[in-house]
Amino acid sequence: MTQFSDLKLDPKVLKAIDEAGYTTPTPIQAQAIPHALEGRDVLGIAQTGTGKTASFTLPLITRLGRGRARARMPRSLVLAPTRELAAQVAENFDTYAKYTRLTKALLIGGVAFGEQDKLIDRGVDVLIATPGRLLDHFERGKLLLTGVEVMVVDEADRMLDMGFIPDIERIFGLTPFTRQTFFYSATMAPEIERITNTFLSNPARIEIARQATASETIAQELIELPATRRDGAAKLKRDALRAIITAEGDKIENAVIFCNRKVDVDILSKSLQKYKFDAAPIHGDLDQSVRTRTLEKFRAGELRLLIASDVAARGLDVPSVSHVINYDLPSHPEDYVHRIGRTGRAGRSGKAISLMVPADQKYLDQIEALLQKPLPRGTAPDIAAPQAPEGEDERPRSRSRERDRKPRAKPAPEPAAKAAAPAPEQAELHQFAEAKAARTAPTPPRNRPERNDQRNDQRDNRHDHRLDRKHDNRNDNRGAVVGMGDHVPDFLMRQFRSA
Ligand code: AMP
Repeated sequence: MTQFSDLKLDPKVLKAIDEAGYTTPTPIQAQAIPHALEGRDVLGIAQTGTGKTASFTLPLITRLGRGRARARMPRSLVLAPTRELAAQVAENFDTYAKYTRLTKALLIGGVAFGEQDKLIDRGVDVLIATPGRLLDHFERGKLLLTGVEVMVVDEADRMLDMGFIPDIERIFGLTPFTRQTFFYSATMAPEIERITNTFLSNPARIEIARQATASETIAQELIELPATRRDGAAKLKRDALRAIITAEGDKIENAVIFCNRKVDVDILSKSLQKYKFDAAPIHGDLDQSVRTRTLEKFRAGELRLLIASDVAARGLDVPSVSHVINYDLPSHPEDYVHRIGRTGRAGRSGKAISLMVPADQKYLDQIEALLQKPLPRGTAPDIAAPQAPEGEDERPRSRSRERDRKPRAKPAPEPAAKAAAPAPEQAELHQFAEAKAARTAPTPPRNRPERNDQRNDQRDNRHDHRLDRKHDNRNDNRGAVVGMGDHVPDFLMRQFRSA
């Protein structure tokens, strides 16, 4: 078996690896590093968890060991699709380059330009960036890419999903033709194939088996929930999720819970917090400082449940995650593989639980086709039992839906601290009732002594008259035009005499 010492890495890098506690290279490292050190382009088809970050960082550091950076002209460039992933590469670089004098800058959105400009001005060996922020710096004239000796594109398939491919092509065009390129993607979509054919030169192609098919350490389980009305599915899933978390108990040291949409990340996270679960959201619309803090807490074991979108959690390296829960089945089957790969890392055991409602059948079919085996079915939790005593659905409702709702059974008694304040949903209903009362109350006489303009008066009179007529008609025909609220056109309210 290959040892790190067999690879011709800089002794300073070997020392850092040794301190990091790595004994042997992972397959992608063993295969990619020799080619990379020979100066060849590398096409790595591998996903996160395989050790791919070190497979390009270690030879990059070794290669840059000789030479010096010039102002505004980074010597190497690493592009990552998300801020988190870029930050993670930067952390890896710090670990492996600790005995060298190489410098780095991290260019990501959500951070002020000033500090980043200063670093670039001084000259950096390694520039780690998301594509958008890199181009922002370039367009501000703060950066030249003509000194780039090595360029790395990490998670190209995610770049594709996020619409970054035109940016990547542009950035390739700004770097010298003679650069060495390391290109990583978990899958090879035709568009990715095209980019690699265009910008890589005779690359060493290294493919690492899919983690989901290779890893036997992840226990997978699918929980099928019964059919409900469409608007009841979200509540049913939240109830089921809480029941699952409670049933798993202490077995859940920490969990990443995935939702397909950012709005659901927020809703679910708030809902879990209301039920006193230790949960926090992470998705692309949150401020960078909040995202960073949340991740740090999760990594440090100070946060138990991380509610995440795919993009925000993609490639995150948290070594020990005991559970991954798919609150939503992902619509791209590859995402299932990425998601569950957050657990069961480095030989540890992990559990991946997925919730599904009947409408998700098509997603399940795709996932099972990709995995080439059915997902083991688990038993649906007992969610008939009363849950924690709170308002049900945290999703903001449209007013018309709210109006149509039947009065709900009174919730179970609240704990003392909470009983005083109305549940959020009740408060919302209350506000709605008040607003409605205000709208339907007779219009108070207007106070406009200074307004002598006849036309304005006429217009206002006409308006008031219409409103009054509408109210009269509404009283006569209450419920005649359901769902139109106060906006019922007059002609709909007209009375017709029968012949
Ligand atoms: P990555 O695929 O780059 O996200 O790496 C996955 C995890 O494996 C990270 O936590 C690395 O620190 C760890 N790792 C990388 N290389 C090795 C190695 N040779 N031996 C043990 N762990 C490693």
